Amino acid sequence: MQIKSLLVIFFASGMLNGCSDRPDQTDIVINNVTIVDAVSPIRTARSVVVRGDKILAVNPALSGNSAAAPHVIDGSGQYLIPGLWDMHVHFLYEPQLTEHMANLFLHYGVTSVRDTGGNLSDLTALRRRLSERSQPSPRIYFSGPLLDGKFVVYDGSDPARPALGVDVADTSTAEARVKQLKDAGADLIKIYELVQPDVYADLVAAARRYDLPIASHVPLMLTADTAGPLADSMEHLRNIELACASNWQDLLAQRQKAIGDFTEGLGYELRRSLHSAQRLPAIAAYDEPRCNQVLDTLRGTTQVPTLRLNTVFQQQPWTREDWPAALSELPDDVSEQWQSRIDLLAHNNPTADHRFAEWSLFLISRLLERGVPIAAGTDTPIGFGIPGYSLHTELELLVAGGMSPRQALYAATIAPTDFFNNADQMGQIQAGMVADLVLLRGNPLENISNSRNIAAVMSGGVWARR
Ligand SMILES: [Zn+2]
Repeated sequence: MQIKSLLVIFFASGMLNGCSDRPDQTDIVINNVTIVDAVSPIRTARSVVVRGDKILAVNPALSGNSAAAPHVIDGSGQYLIPGLWDMHVHFLYEPQLTEHMANLFLHYGVTSVRDTGGNLSDLTALRRRLSERSQPSPRIYFSGPLLDGKFVVYDGSDPARPALGVDVADTSTAEARVKQLKDAGADLIKIYELVQPDVYADLVAAARRYDLPIASHVPLMLTADTAGPLADSMEHLRNIELACASNWQDLLAQRQKAIGDFTEGLGYELRRSLHSAQRLPAIAAYDEPRCNQVLDTLRGTTQVPTLRLNTVFQQQPWTREDWPAALSELPDDVSEQWQSRIDLLAHNNPTADHRFAEWSLFLISRLLERGVPIAAGTDTPIGFGIPGYSLHTELELLVAGGMSPRQALYAATIAPTDFFNNADQMGQIQAGMVADLVLLRGNPLENISNSRNIAAVMSGGVWARR
C-alpha cells in the first residue's frame, strides 16, 4: 500500500473518531441503565452518553476499565426516563413561592413547564433571572395574562385571586393584544372564560397569524365542541360536562342570558355563580351518545385535565405519608399558611361534594376511548399543589382514570411536545434529543408511583439533583 493511501486511511479514521458517538472524558455517561420512554420498547443494559446539553448516543453498556472511568455514572438497577413536563403551572399565583418553584420542579424531575397565566413582564424577568444563574432551570414556556372578557375573573380585586387576567373587551383589541404578546416573547396564548364568541374567533385567528399555539378554557358563552376544536389545548376538563348533558341547549341558553344580563359586579362572581348553578345538574344529565359526539370534535385538541386539582378535596393529598416532607420543602411562611388552611377545611367541610372529582376521573376513560389526546398538568400551586411533587400525583390519577402507566408517561413527556411542535427535540431518549433526564430507582411502567422514586435529575446536560 502506498504511503499516500495509508495517510488517507489514517486521517479518515481520525476524523471518524472526532465525530464518533463514543464517549470522551468531557462527556457524562450513565452506564448499564434501563431506558424507559413512552414510545420505544424497554431497552436494558445501555449507556447513555451526554455531551453538552444533548444526548450524544445510546450505546450498549460499557464494561471493564471504561465502565470505571470518573465520568461514568453507574445506572445498574435503575431506570432512565425523559424529563417530565407540567403543562399547567402559575409561577406568579403565590408570590412567596415564585422564586422557589424552579428548584422544586427540578427536584421532582419536572424539567419543562408551561405557565398558563400571569403578568408577562414579570414572567419574562423571572425566566431571564433563572437563565442567568449558575444552577440549571427548567425550560419555561409562558402565555402571559389570561385573555378574558369585559369582566375579568382574575382581576386582582382580592388577594386570593391575583391579577392574572386582562380584558379583551371587543374585537377591535384582539389582534393588537396577540401581537403585543408575540412581540414580548410569549410562547402561547391562553384564552379565558368570559370572552365573547366574536372575540374568541378573532383571538384564534390572530394567534394563527402570529404562529402562537392556543390554550383555552371553554368560554362560557360557547360549548366545548364549538370552542375546543379551534384551540390546541383545553384546561381542567371544565365545561365538557355542560356539552355532554342531554339538556345542554337549555343550560347554554340560561348561561348566555345570565352573562348578557350581567352589567355590574366581579367577573369572578359571575363565573362562580354559573358553575355552581350548572355543573352538577349537567353531570347528572350526562348523555353518552351526545358526549361521544362532543369528544369526537376534540381529537385534535390536547386535554390537560388537571385531575390533581379537580380531585383535591376527594383525594386529600395532605393525608399522604409523603406529604409532610414535601410540604416542608416550601418556605416556612407558605407551608404554615397552607397547613392552617387545610386544618380549617377539615374542620369546616368534612364531607365535600365529590361528584366533579368522580366525573373528572370517569371522563379520562371516555377521552381514551374516543382518541382525544391528554397531557399532564397540575395548576400548581393553586389548591395546595406543591410544585413538582403534584405532577407525580397527576400521573397516578391519570392511571386511576384508566390510562396505562405508559400512556401516563406519554402524557408527561411526548403529548406536550405535540402542543409546542418540538417532538423532534425532546420527549424521548435518543441521540440528538435534549439531555433532560430523570433516573429512577423503580420501573414506572410496572407502577407509575415509581416516578416519585428519584435518584437523579439532569436538565440540559447538567445535574440538577444527584
Ligand atoms: Zn390555571
